[in-house]
Amino acid sequence: MKKEEMVGVYPFMRVALREYFHRGTSIESFLDSNEANLKQSVEQLSRIMNGEEITFSTDPEDRVVDYIITKIVLTYIRDYFISARYAIKERNALYENLKRENDPKTLKLVSQELNVDVEKQGENYLIPISPFLKNAVVFNDRELKLCNQVLKDGNVVASQNVLAKILREAFYRKYMQEVNEVVEFPQEVDKMLKPWVGGIISKGQEIRQERANLGPLNERSFPPCLAEIIDQMKKGANVSHAGRFFLVTFLHRIGLPNDEILKYFGKVPDFAEKITKYQIEHITGSGRGREYSVPSCQTLGSLGLCYKERDPLCASGKVSHPLGFYRTRNLGNRSVSKGSSVDGVDNPRNPKK
Ligand code: SF4
Repeated sequence: MKKEEMVGVYPFMRVALREYFHRGTSIESFLDSNEANLKQSVEQLSRIMNGEEITFSTDPEDRVVDYIITKIVLTYIRDYFISARYAIKERNALYENLKRENDPKTLKLVSQELNVDVEKQGENYLIPISPFLKNAVVFNDRELKLCNQVLKDGNVVASQNVLAKILREAFYRKYMQEVNEVVEFPQEVDKMLKPWVGGIISKGQEIRQERANLGPLNERSFPPCLAEIIDQMKKGANVSHAGRFFLVTFLHRIGLPNDEILKYFGKVPDFAEKITKYQIEHITGSGRGREYSVPSCQTLGSLGLCYKERDPLCASGKVSHPLGFYRTRNLGNRSVSKGSSVDGVDNPRNPKK
């Protein structure tokens, strides 16, 4: 693959950055000469914050410039919640491209860029165990479990799809670390960006404010009714439609993006990603249509989904809504689930005002 094509598909490659930031090119002059892309990046971020779908530019040059500018904007805003929403979109696009990538050299270069050293072996790729484990943290993904891997000389013998999943996570971690680092922007850049980012920051604050009342994301504070559904799903049992509906509304309400909610469905016997994705989008509203509310304890009880006898708080009769249970438990136990890739979602760094 030619360099220009490669950076259009994988815009995070350092070689792309070098192309645009020659010696003497400042962030200010870069932004100044690409104002249309700045506008486009800000619009994309606003759409993401409103739960709308976005598509990345198919023009290689625009794709790279949009990517760089969005990264500058997110580093400037430095808000974990906002950058996580964008990083998930990039991560998913990367996965789709890596699955289809038919040039092993490009796959190797992308892997190196993401600090995962791979070697091609026949149809497969050898991934050292350490980066494999570090990035195989996706909830409920059977394909990534170490017990399902073939090991050889300290490496995992991975299919291209497994490699794509590992690189997808490696990208996400690296990106989130980079955009959340403290960077002092020159005053001119500050002046330039401030008028563009106000709307995005306010939307982030609005969503956070709404969720702050529920405390940080914490699976250990889930009510017994929800824990039972998750447990059933993990065992591969067929959970009722009402149970799935409850799960989606609840996880959405406490701040999980749709892609994270989808991971809870990985083990259900009739799992079909496309259909499940569609159902999740429908239930959560996703920018259009109705956003369904979380059912009350009374409704869950009438559906046979209440397990109040399993917890003294529920058994006391003082809980009338699963979110009430979550809020009560969570605010008394503020630790965040380590397994979640959106942990910290309610604890972003303070964006620049
Ligand atoms: S009382 Fe409410 S929160 Fe508790 S298990 Fe029943 S439905 Fe869930």
